[in-house]
Amino acid sequence: MIPSEIQESIALMLFPAPFSVRRSTPLSGGCINQAYRVDTEDNSYFIKFNHAGLYPGMFEAEVRGLEVLEKTNTLRVPRPILASTAGRYTYIIMEFIGTGKSHSSFWEDFGMKLARLHRNTASSYGLDHDNYIGSLPQSNRFHDSWTDFFITERLEPQLKQAADSGAAGAPLLRQFEKLYRLLPSLIPQEPPALIHGDLWNGNYMTAPDGSACLIDPAVHYGHREADLAMSLLFGGFSESFYDAYQGAYPLESGWKERMDIHKLYPLLVHVNLFGGGYIRFVASIVSTF
Ligand code: ADP
Repeated sequence: MIPSEIQESIALMLFPAPFSVRRSTPLSGGCINQAYRVDTEDNSYFIKFNHAGLYPGMFEAEVRGLEVLEKTNTLRVPRPILASTAGRYTYIIMEFIGTGKSHSSFWEDFGMKLARLHRNTASSYGLDHDNYIGSLPQSNRFHDSWTDFFITERLEPQLKQAADSGAAGAPLLRQFEKLYRLLPSLIPQEPPALIHGDLWNGNYMTAPDGSACLIDPAVHYGHREADLAMSLLFGGFSESFYDAYQGAYPLESGWKERMDIHKLYPLLVHVNLFGGGYIRFVASIVSTF
């Protein structure tokens, strides 16, 4: 059940739009929050909630991230409506996306639109607010170079957490130091690209019109290869997705060989979220440099 204080808060905040719950249906698939489809007299909404204070600012950042993506007019995202707190709870309400059957050019269209999203650029790497990746905070302080951003805002904080928990030992930390020195010569300079930031299989849906819809963004202006690396972390998307992407916004040569470097961040996130077992994947990548 959606707690009554959340329902009352939404009704108050959305007033004069009518908000009287006719039916609420729990949804599975989320890792962090309780998620529901909520039907009112004239609309369907998607609502997630959690205990206030557990993940400060998570839903506010999600609203902002969805707004940033929505403004690009590229890949569809659910229209964000509101993030707020109600008594003991914090919640987010957004457009409910029904589930459709992928149309025949689903992957091509997805790849082409991701390329168009990545064409959105900024003067530096970062974002004007911090957000989360899964349930872990993600700092988005601006940097002028991608490798500075990648090291300072992405790899170092996750590696420190892995070291503090005992998952990463001194030899691995030394190997990372070596990699940090090499990174500027390994990764080609590219303009900052607006990326989804957590583009794995669980973070897109097929909308009723048969096209892709992104959810759960961890957006920032970063390196576009990071989105592609994330998409490849668990088996990868269809070949036609990558072909269409390449056709629309070709990657620098050698991008496939660089995928492992960009996988390091989500792999470290996995170490910190799900346990030390993932550290051997990290170690096997870092040891090659
Ligand atoms: P969590 O923040 O706990 O990881 P998710 O945002 O992944 O939760 O949402 C849980 C599930 O709900 C998703 O796997 C997806 O199937 C579904 N979902 C997410 N956003 C929407 C939406 N706007 N409309 C319909 N279903 C959604």
